[in-house]
Amino acid sequence: MDMPEVIPVCYCGNPAKLNTSWSNDNPGRRFSRCKKFGNAFRKPCWFFSWFDPPLTPHLRVVLLGLLKKVKALEDARKRERRTWFWYL
Ligand SMILES: [Zn+2]
Repeated sequence: MDMPEVIPVCYCGNPAKLNTSWSNDNPGRRFSRCKKFGNAFRKPCWFFSWFDPPLTPHLRVVLLGLLKKVKALEDARKRERRTWFWYL
């Protein structure tokens, strides 16, 4: 994992962890959020902030296209491996 240049510190004093979003709206966009983010915690912390600037619509389309291609390649590779298995 690469180290971020600036780690924002959250409301509760913990360094907010840097994550990468893979949602359709923000593919590859990094954000930081508290390690206690989420309803699973008794005292959740809702600190959330984007690390990267918003994606331009163009970049978003390009990235989603690339992701789709990677997935197609992975699926093809899996299929290939299955085929190999039957021939062994
Ligand atoms: Zn926090």
